[in-house]
Amino acid sequence: MLKLDYHPSGRNFLQVPGPSPVPDRILRAMSLPTIDHRGPEFGPLGLKVVAGLAAIFKTRQPVVIYPASGTGAWEAALSNTLSSGDHVLMYETGQFAALWIRMARRLSLNAEVIGWNGSDEHTAQAEGWRHSVQPEVIEQRLRRDTARQIKAVCIVHSETSTGVISDVLAVRRAIDNAQHPALLMVDTISGLACTDYRHDEWGVDVSISGSQKGLMLPPGMSFNAVSPRALAAAGTARLPRSYWAWDEIIAMNKDGYFPYTPNTNLLYGLSEAIDMLLEEGLDNVFARHERWARGVRAAVEAWGLPIQCAEPRAHSPVLTGVMTPAEINADRLRRLIYERFDLSLGTGLGKVAGRMFRIGHLGNSNDLTLLATLAGCEMGFKLIKVPLSASGVQSAMAYFESHPAPMLKPAV
Ligand code: PLP
Repeated sequence: MLKLDYHPSGRNFLQVPGPSPVPDRILRAMSLPTIDHRGPEFGPLGLKVVAGLAAIFKTRQPVVIYPASGTGAWEAALSNTLSSGDHVLMYETGQFAALWIRMARRLSLNAEVIGWNGSDEHTAQAEGWRHSVQPEVIEQRLRRDTARQIKAVCIVHSETSTGVISDVLAVRRAIDNAQHPALLMVDTISGLACTDYRHDEWGVDVSISGSQKGLMLPPGMSFNAVSPRALAAAGTARLPRSYWAWDEIIAMNKDGYFPYTPNTNLLYGLSEAIDMLLEEGLDNVFARHERWARGVRAAVEAWGLPIQCAEPRAHSPVLTGVMTPAEINADRLRRLIYERFDLSLGTGLGKVAGRMFRIGHLGNSNDLTLLATLAGCEMGFKLIKVPLSASGVQSAMAYFESHPAPMLKPAV
């Protein structure tokens, strides 16, 4: 018989950058009995989660929910707004950007890849995956597109494969400066509810996110926030779509219902997650992530190892990518740490496979969980005889002590 509880002694430290650990409050909400999704109780639940998501995306426009992982919401964004052969400009920041590019091509779009310092897919180097989106590179390319053939610009806000955050508003300004009509599509699958995101204010046309990161839910649900321009584009876009089509879902969502069988229990969880995030206050949620990220970076710096993100202003509050010395395979280290300490760290993906690992510091965590995570890393390094400059745990402790968080518990 397959054994599903792999962690009989204590808890697994799930420190990958998504799925993030699910809080007990959400697990309990999800354990309620499934109800009739066409019955009278369902409508208020549907209305609540759609409105709650809009508050988190900071939008007054529709947010569409899919019972699919984030990849499904990528496909929905492209297939609702574009037609076969359309030219799209896609910025490669890392492996998730690369996978989205591959999808666009599979969907018969003409995807042009650009990246760091104006590189294309033939000239790109691994160094490019250490940097954020350069808005000026996008602006220059759009200015050259005098025939206005580029229909959309696609970027990843929080590149989960590297731990690099990009400035979405600066990309919006670059498109406006070039006076270009392209739609702006942004993957904020790991950014949303970890770091500030403003769908309306930043002029994003389609924002894409998923359940298993800052929203602290299990995988299996994803979202499109949609601007009026994107809705208008859907009126003429010709890529085949049926299940992903926004119009029918948005129409039924007005009463809180869906045209298909929704994953009701994940929606219970989403309802609870929205309550938790709004009770805490989004700005406090963002500050909490930023503080954790700084503590973890203090540890990596003390170890004397390079951080995958080479730009201090683009360091991610969601995760930190740690580059291992050339002779050390990062996956061998990860495996050892998992087997010895039941600590799951993120693997290096694509161009950086084996060269780095990722420490997730998002969602349901606290200072001590992160200190234990850093201790696990430090013990792993010692076991495989990687010399460290100093104790990262001590540095992270010093950071957390000197930057106290708000009290976790009310005074008794
Ligand atoms: N985009 C980003 C930035 C991600 O982090 C992920 C998953 O980690 C995806 C896309 C793909 O989402 P999923 O694996 O949920 O399909």
